[in-house]
Amino acid sequence: MHIDPHRSFPTRECPGCGMNVPANENRCPVCLYEFPVRGSLHRNLWWIALAVILLLLLPLLRLL
Ligand SMILES: [Zn+2]
Repeated sequence: MHIDPHRSFPTRECPGCGMNVPANENRCPVCLYEFPVRGSLHRNLWWIALAVILLLLLPLLRLL
């Protein structure tokens, strides 16, 4: 069974130079193009942070 080396690592094409950049790299090693960070993860982290803040504030609100 032939294993394609390009398939073992997820890559994405750099819009700046067309180079296949590993998906875990946030910056193209050739032209230093910075890939935009996916918004969904940031949005999830924001909601998690908000939930933690609310949980921390709830006992304080009860004391007031
Ligand atoms: Zn590039």
